[in-house]
Amino acid sequence: MKIVSVGSHPDDVELGMGGTLTKHKDCGDDTFVILCTLGGVSGDPRQREKEALEAARILGVKKLRIINYPISKLNTSTIEFEKIMKKIIDEIGPNRVYTHSPFDYHQVHVGVSKMVTRAANDIDQILFYETISSTTPEFKPNAFVDITKQINTKIRSVKAHKSQSNRFYIQPNIIKSLANTRYVWGKVGTNPKGLAESFRIHKFIL
Ligand SMILES: [Zn+2]
Repeated sequence: MKIVSVGSHPDDVELGMGGTLTKHKDCGDDTFVILCTLGGVSGDPRQREKEALEAARILGVKKLRIINYPISKLNTSTIEFEKIMKKIIDEIGPNRVYTHSPFDYHQVHVGVSKMVTRAANDIDQILFYETISSTTPEFKPNAFVDITKQINTKIRSVKAHKSQSNRFYIQPNIIKSLANTRYVWGKVGTNPKGLAESFRIHKFIL
């Protein structure tokens, strides 16, 4: 399978589904990450690009595509951005696309979610990942991936974003705490130390 995961900022994909991307790769899938911006106010873009490349390497991503679109234009939908996104998605030809949930406190995440959903209209499977820093309670996940064996790779990929290391939600205990909750809440298994990532299915055709 070919898998595309789209994130607004560097570290969104790693936090949302670093374990699942690793699992896809371990299953023999080709994984592609599309990064919409290099962060705006939260760091030097060159530094953040380096960090994103390192995180992608850790996750075994086949190709990282950085659009670096002006962040101020991503708060609302733009046809121009949607066309860029559609072109990249069509070039890759994925079986499944993951992106932000539209239920998010961050306006850029909401804008990207909506534009990716439209750009990937022809793709059979679209799922929304959970962003620990900003997904709202309306997210309501209905798909779960056991990442107990992938957690260390996920945490290493998140730690590659050194410029963000002071943020509270990037700390391993917080990441593990949410993953343990999702494992239990999603009835993924009976391992007390089990960890999972959660998703909301937007569209799933097999
Ligand atoms: Zn973000």
